[in-house]
Amino acid sequence: MPVETKPVESKQPKGIWVYLEHAGGTPAQVAWELIGEAKRLAKDLGTDVSAVLLGDKAKPLVGEAFAYGADRVYLIESPVLRDYRTRPYARAVVALVEKYRPEAFLLGATAQGRDLASTVATTLATGLTADCTSLDIDPETRLLRQTRPAFGGNIMATILCKTERPQMSTVRPHIMPLPERQEGRTGELITEDFEMNEDDIAAKVLRFVRKKTAGIPLDEAGIVVSGGRGVGGVEGFDVIRRLADVLGAAVGSSRAAVANGWIGQDHQVGQTGQTVRPKLYVACGISGSIQHLAGMQSSDLIVAINTDPHAPIFEAADYGIVGDLHQVVPALTEAFKRLIKEEAGQPVGVTAKPAADDGGSGSGTGAGEGNE
Ligand SMILES: Cc1cc2nc3c(=O)[nH]c(=O)nc-3n(C[C@H](O)[C@H](O)[C@H](O)COP(=O)(O)OP(=O)(O)OC[C@H]3O[C@@H](n4cnc5c(N)ncnc54)[C@H](O)[C@@H]3O)c2cc1C
Repeated sequence: MPVETKPVESKQPKGIWVYLEHAGGTPAQVAWELIGEAKRLAKDLGTDVSAVLLGDKAKPLVGEAFAYGADRVYLIESPVLRDYRTRPYARAVVALVEKYRPEAFLLGATAQGRDLASTVATTLATGLTADCTSLDIDPETRLLRQTRPAFGGNIMATILCKTERPQMSTVRPHIMPLPERQEGRTGELITEDFEMNEDDIAAKVLRFVRKKTAGIPLDEAGIVVSGGRGVGGVEGFDVIRRLADVLGAAVGSSRAAVANGWIGQDHQVGQTGQTVRPKLYVACGISGSIQHLAGMQSSDLIVAINTDPHAPIFEAADYGIVGDLHQVVPALTEAFKRLIKEEAGQPVGVTAKPAADDGGSGSGTGAGEGNE
C-alpha cells in the first residue's frame, strides 16, 4: 500500500519529475521509460523521482508508477481532467510545480506531452528542450545536459537551462529503455485538490475516432521491415510487404520513399518520422542517413540490404547483405516461409506490448493523434 502523506512545500528546487501520460487509464509506455531514465539521473544528483498523475479516476496507475521506479506520485483527480485538454492539465501541472519546485521535469515527446510541456514551460517562463535523444547530469554544475539533433540533424546540440527551474525536456517514445517492473514496490502518494469549472474550459471532447492503419502499427511491432529509395517505386514496396507479412512485422520507410509518394507518412522512421526500437529492423534500399538512423539505431538487431557496399547503413547494421533487394528480399521471404512451415507453422513475428503512446506522431490521449 502506498504511504499517503501531508504535502510539504520545499524551497529549493529538488527532485526529478516525470509526467505520467495515459489515455483513460491506459499508460503510455514512454512514461515508464522516462521514470527509468529519471532514476538514472537522480542517482547522479542524489535525489528522488516523482511521477505526476492527472485524470478523473487515475489512482489505479499509482501502484504501477511505484513498480516502475517512482519514489513519489503527485495525484490530482477531477472530472475536468477526464480527457486531456491543454488548459486544465497545464493549470494543474503548473500549480504542482509552483508548490513543490522540481529540479527537472521530463515528458514524452508525444502530441500530448509536447502540447503540455510547451504550455507549462511558457507559463513558468522556464527552458524546454524538445525531442532529446540523450540526457545526463554535469557532475560539476548539477545541470541537466539535454542533447538533441540540431540543424537538420547534422549536429548533436547539448542544451543547458542554467537559471530557471524546472529544467524541462521531452523525449520520444522508445528512445530510452523500458525499466524492469518491480512488483510490490511502493512509495509516497501526495494527493492535491483541484478546482476548475467546466464552463471555464473552451475545448470540449466530443468523441474519439481511432485512426485506421493498414497492418501492424510501427510502435507496436517487434519486427520492422523498411524500404527506402532503393525499392524503386510504389510496386517496389510489394516485396517489402510480403516479407513483413511472413515475419508478422510492421512496414517502415525512409523519408525519401514517403517524399516520392510511394508510401504514407505514418510509415516513416527517423528524426521527422517515428522512433522505433524493435527486436529486428530490416533496412532495404536505405542508405543510412543520420536522420534515418536517429529513428532506428536503438533496435536490438539491424539487418541491412543494399547494393552499395559503402552505404553508411552498414556501419549501424549487425548483419549486412550487399545485393539487389529485389532478389535478396524475395529469397529471404521464401526462406522464412520454409523455416516457419518446418518449425512451428506459426509466424515468427514478435508483437510488442501495445502502448498508449504513438511514437513521433501522437500521444496516447486518444485526442487527435493516432485517433483522428
Ligand atoms: C531535417 C531533416 C529531417 C529528415 N528526417 C528524416 C527521417 O525522419 N527519416 C528519413 O529516412 N530521412 C529523413 N531525412 C532525409 C535523409 O537525409 C535522407 O535523405 C533519406 O533518409 C534518404 O532516404 P533513402 O536512404 O531511402 O534514400 P537514399 O539516400 O537515396 O538511399 C537509397 C539507397 O538504396 C540503395 N539501393 C538502390 N537500389 C537498390 C536495390 N535495388 N537494392 C538494394 N539497395 C539499393 C542505394 O545504394 C542507396 O544506399 C531528413 C532530412 C532532413 C534534412
